Amino acid sequence: HNHNILVVGGAGYIGGHTCKALARAGYLPVTYDNLVSGHEWAVKWGPLEHGDIRDRSRLAEVIARYRPTAAIHLAAYACVGESVVNPAKYYHNNVVGTLSLLEELRAGGVDKLVFSSTCATYGAPLRLPIDEAHPRSPVSPYGHSKEMIEQILRDYDRAYGLRTIALRYFNVAGADLEGELGEDHDPETHLIPLAIEAALGRRAALSIFGDDFPTPDGTAIRDYIHVVDLAVAHLHALEYLESGGATTACNLGTGCGYSVREIVSAVEELTGRELDTKIAPRRAGDPPALVAAPERAYELLGWRPLCSGLATIVGTAIRWARAQSSGEARAQHAAPRPVGRDA
Ligand code: UDP
Repeated sequence: HNHNILVVGGAGYIGGHTCKALARAGYLPVTYDNLVSGHEWAVKWGPLEHGDIRDRSRLAEVIARYRPTAAIHLAAYACVGESVVNPAKYYHNNVVGTLSLLEELRAGGVDKLVFSSTCATYGAPLRLPIDEAHPRSPVSPYGHSKEMIEQILRDYDRAYGLRTIALRYFNVAGADLEGELGEDHDPETHLIPLAIEAALGRRAALSIFGDDFPTPDGTAIRDYIHVVDLAVAHLHALEYLESGGATTACNLGTGCGYSVREIVSAVEELTGRELDTKIAPRRAGDPPALVAAPERAYELLGWRPLCSGLATIVGTAIRWARAQSSGEARAQHAAPRPVGRDA
């Protein structure tokens, strides 16, 4: 039985954790990644094939070599603010790149795909919690790029029989429970790693983007899901497709929201350090609260978030951040990396 799964973007933060979950379940994750934001050191559970999703001949070569039964597609640019100033980058990589990947999956007879989508496809929420029937009206080119791909996937199923599940992630955070993987973005823009770096004295004060939202403490509320729970959900999504599941989309969140101030308190408590914060203006397009209705994933995938309590999310992220300054991390990062082809 062929257990090869093509993990496009497998060298990234979520991709790496997903490869580990796949390997544990007996699959061979074959990572295809251009290493523009992914890391060679994060690929530990299967082969790394260096390539860009817009490079069709390279994709064809890798698909022919491994003959995967399904693919998981996590390769995308994902910075909302950057997508507003450079939409061309987002539409070319995310949309055109995905079209190129889909052509080669079809040519190679791969008919099942798990796709990384986002709660940014909903835009400003009209009601909370957000279920999958909530209207989708993205407010950034990033959100639009993901929404466009979801539409393409629905059409490709009807016409070509490619079955897909789009996973709409809420706020992903935390690190591997055994300390083997964690978040490493450059530049880092996410709240939890930034708050930890500030608490550990590696950067100046944390800016809180807005304290006048209509929320109990005035700061914005988000639904944080542990990256390990998210990775395991990909495994369940794959099994859903393998057992004949129809094309669909579902939220990945917990249904529980935390404010920026609650995150700051958790980081202070778990690092034992006081965090220097300053109030900054709201970021454009940031809604006051985003919380998932997670029940569809529960029913469809038989999955539950098991390590998304705030203490586990923040605790594993702190452990990872602390390890980044150790000798072990320096040795790991010292491995030579191939140069990304089209940064
Ligand atoms: N945030 C903040 N300071 C930061 C980074 C983020 O106050 O330095 C806030 C941000 O405005 C949002 C929440 O933290 O309300 C989560 O932001 P993040 O960028 O982590 O994820 P997003 O919700 O934008 O996907």
